[in-house]
Amino acid sequence: KGRRASATPAPQVFSDRPGIPRVEANVNLLSEADQVVAHNAGAVGLYRSEMIFLARRTLPTEEEQVEIYRKLIEAVRGRRVTIRTFDLRPDKLAQGSSAASCSAHALDWRLVLEVPSLQRLFKEQVRAILRAASVGPVRLLVPLVNRSALLDFALATVREARGELIAEGLAFGADVPFGAMIEATAAIPLAGSWAGRVDFFALGTNDLIASALGLNREDPVGAQCDDVLHPGLIRMIAALIDAAHKGGRPVSTCGEMASDPAGTVVLAALGADSLSVAVDRLADVRRTLAGLNPADLPSLRSRLLEAESVEDVARLVSQRGA
Ligand code: PEP
Ligand code: MG
Repeated sequence: KGRRASATPAPQVFSDRPGIPRVEANVNLLSEADQVVAHNAGAVGLYRSEMIFLARRTLPTEEEQVEIYRKLIEAVRGRRVTIRTFDLRPDKLAQGSSAASCSAHALDWRLVLEVPSLQRLFKEQVRAILRAASVGPVRLLVPLVNRSALLDFALATVREARGELIAEGLAFGADVPFGAMIEATAAIPLAGSWAGRVDFFALGTNDLIASALGLNREDPVGAQCDDVLHPGLIRMIAALIDAAHKGGRPVSTCGEMASDPAGTVVLAALGADSLSVAVDRLADVRRTLAGLNPADLPSLRSRLLEAESVEDVARLVSQRGA
């Protein structure tokens, strides 16, 4: 307990150009931390903590989680780590072996409002994240916020967890920004009213695209389509970013859309504050962003918002050299 950060500050050598999103890394496994450092990502924009469960098929204890998160925080040498609480939903649990599919329903994050064992699991994880934040900068992110009650429950749990850690005299990070993931279309019109309650939003384009276009994420036909260019999706994302910015809150994105060259341009034009992508996509995304002139983006944004077809969007984006 009480270990202090020994990390050196992360060098900031790219994409701090005004009007251009910062580039961050998605991390699924602790072993990817070296790549974050090697590629000099600005931060870990998404750590998918449920991978701990998916890899071993048992739930880690609070102490085990503190250890794992601290290792990650220390391994990325001072870069901020956004730890997402377990995104346990049947579609993710069904990936890989059948062992967990019987418990998939029981662990579904969306049931946290009703199921006491899930509430305990969530509180334990929040405690672990806050405790791990005593060794370096951390943000706490909650997946699939699709109704106000879920957001308020998560916020109340964070307050309770802080109170418990103080009472128990355990070291924890005093400044851990709280973020909500927007991954369901019905959340977007509510984001403006949530902005006062969160420190940041994270846009999960993988689930948002499925939700917006009526696709199954694993659907091979859906995956081949140029969904990231859908004009309705673009207007939706613009509405989220506008609502967040109006409330003074940044928007990170962390789905695959940001690593599609056209998706990179669209998200930059719409005003995303950071793009978090898989470590092996960092170089390409930076290259695409380097080719953008921030002065061109406001007019591109206006034209994207008027587009009516995928073809219109594709044309606008290609005129920008993506
Ligand atoms: C997303 O949905 O875009 C996202 C980043 O979360 P995941 O891929 O883990 O569902
Ligand atoms: Mg998701």
